[in-house]
Amino acid sequence: MCRQLAYLGPPMALRELVVDPPSGLYRQSWAPRLQQHGTMNVDGFGIGWYAEGDPVPARYRRAGPVWADEGFADLARVVRSGAVLAAVRSATHGCAAGEQAAAPFAAGPWLFAHNGVLPGWPERLGGLAAQLPPAELLSLTARTDSALVWALALNRLRAGAELGEALADTVREVAKHTDARLNLLLTDGSSLAATAWGDDLHHRSGPGSVLVASEPGDDAPGWRRVPDRSLLLATSEGVTVLPLDRTN
Ligand code: GLN
Repeated sequence: MCRQLAYLGPPMALRELVVDPPSGLYRQSWAPRLQQHGTMNVDGFGIGWYAEGDPVPARYRRAGPVWADEGFADLARVVRSGAVLAAVRSATHGCAAGEQAAAPFAAGPWLFAHNGVLPGWPERLGGLAAQLPPAELLSLTARTDSALVWALALNRLRAGAELGEALADTVREVAKHTDARLNLLLTDGSSLAATAWGDDLHHRSGPGSVLVASEPGDDAPGWRRVPDRSLLLATSEGVTVLPLDRTN
């Protein structure tokens, strides 16, 4: 499955977050250490970040492997941000290729990523898709299971749900229709929410900062594993982990 991370805290160069850690997201694109499903993450990558005073994040996404992209190397050196969400992709069966299918997905102030798979995509997920208004279904950002999950979460956010509520409700809804893996990551630039539902999730807190990642980028102390079937809520001030099951 894909690997992903999110950071909130004092501004850092994108490079420091993604490229420099010895086993960070950049290296995870060809040599993940904990990945249980798939081997490499070469089917696209993306990074979204917030600039001071602007609630709408910028994004840079490409369809190929992150290490082959000279533009990213330059950007990562000079762009600094205090709120970042990034992902490297290993496409799953039946999902479209291309830049539009690479996370993060974005709308308004939000950035979103999905590490996982919806078995039965797309043939057996008509009932799940029917939860969305037709216009939203037609507006799917890509023909992928992740884009459908994003549309379901976005629908809840637009109805006024908090980040954690939007993710938890989405996981429960999808789980009614298919035995999915749903490690979701969502931020608005000041808070973030994540789910552990079938794949790895870790976090590390620093002074006024939090990093949430599929897998640790280094062997330094402080990384904590999030138990499966959990909802993680964080700001730069702290992290809360709550159990997430089909009913709560
Ligand atoms: N199923 C999603 C996709 O194909 C996510 C892939 C993953 O987590 N490996 O984009």
